Amino acid sequence: MIDPKEALELIINNVRVLPSQWSKLENCIERPLAEDIKARQALPPFDNSAMDGYAIRHQDSLGTSPNHPMKLSVRETVRAGSIGKKSLGPQEAIRIMTGAPLPRGADAVVMQEATRQHNGAVEILQETQPGENVRRLGEDIKAGSVILHRGQRLRPFEIALLASQGITKAPVARSPKVAVIATGDELIPANKSLTPGKIRNSNGPAIAAEIKRWGCQIQDFGIAPDNPESLKKILTSALKKSDIALISGGVSVGDFDFTKASLDELGLKTIFWKTAIKPGKPLLFGLINDKSIFGLPGNPVSVLVCLEEFVRPALEKMQGLAPRYPSYHLKGIISNDYAKEIARQQYLFCRAHETPQGFSLHIIRPQGSAMLSMATQANALALAPIGLRYVTPGMEVAFRWLK
Ligand code: AMP
Ligand code: MG
Repeated sequence: MIDPKEALELIINNVRVLPSQWSKLENCIERPLAEDIKARQALPPFDNSAMDGYAIRHQDSLGTSPNHPMKLSVRETVRAGSIGKKSLGPQEAIRIMTGAPLPRGADAVVMQEATRQHNGAVEILQETQPGENVRRLGEDIKAGSVILHRGQRLRPFEIALLASQGITKAPVARSPKVAVIATGDELIPANKSLTPGKIRNSNGPAIAAEIKRWGCQIQDFGIAPDNPESLKKILTSALKKSDIALISGGVSVGDFDFTKASLDELGLKTIFWKTAIKPGKPLLFGLINDKSIFGLPGNPVSVLVCLEEFVRPALEKMQGLAPRYPSYHLKGIISNDYAKEIARQQYLFCRAHETPQGFSLHIIRPQGSAMLSMATQANALALAPIGLRYVTPGMEVAFRWLK
């Protein structure tokens, strides 16, 4: 059994970033840029007002106060989106709205709240500094400068910046095409009635849901029987049509577990098989012609733990992200006890709640790799490390939210 940290490193080191393509902004959210982006134009593109108020020459406000106002004649009103006709002379003001271009001759804007309006004139009640309430051409962005860097994840802020530049497509790594194959003679599709000895394929829909969350495209290959020839056929077709293949079930040591043997016959380069984790021990990772292959456990809880802990980083790397692990950055205090296997890192499904002393974690018992309802009661996954035998009340452990 390989250490889970080493398993993660091996995954990240062996997975390749997919080629990039220019995609519409609406399809780029959360994706990292594949190239630096340069500004096409300055932002703001012209000097403009940051306030509703009056454009003035700042000298005309010197020495003013509510008791010593300065009366200026108002020449016109400039609204956002239009260009004023007049330029500003001494003892004059131009009514100006937020975002409207600064009139020629003006060097500051007095906000409306620091003025008193009269018919055709305005009283300035406050001294104003040169440049006050003026957003200068290029103060945010200089034309030609690098505005976003390769690897930067596109959040709505970055999307806004690109759109403000008239950039409607961005270079991002292609969204991974993920082949999903459920194996097992006992499986029937979720929309079919149960017959004796059968269970429904819950891993297929579960994996599809995760994949969708992570911005990847799913290629669902349904259910493969426990027979090496059929499995090889399906795997071959899956590998042709996808960038990465996820196979659930048949990866352990049972008499009818053919996942590993079938992959071996297709030329699998095994990177690791069997990990010191619970649930999820049979986890297999390898490459066929540089395409990543995961053999995931069949048990419904184990498969999701392995997906989130090990497949997700692989998919992130494929999309050009630098996966940040460990993801267990929160600490909580355990409130009940649990006997674990000393040689494996255990992912404990917990109910977490916040207390004045920090987070409290209640381990849901029993934990079981096939107990889906147990998992649905949990809102947190805590880590009990290798080397630890008993988790006891009061113990501090790392955890993450189960989203
Ligand atoms: P296996 O690793 O193939 O021996 O599967 C381990 C356990 O997970 C068995 O009890 C299987 O019936 C169950 N299992 C495997 N695949 C699925 C699936 N797609 N949906 C639900 N349960 C599954
Ligand atoms: Mg099976």
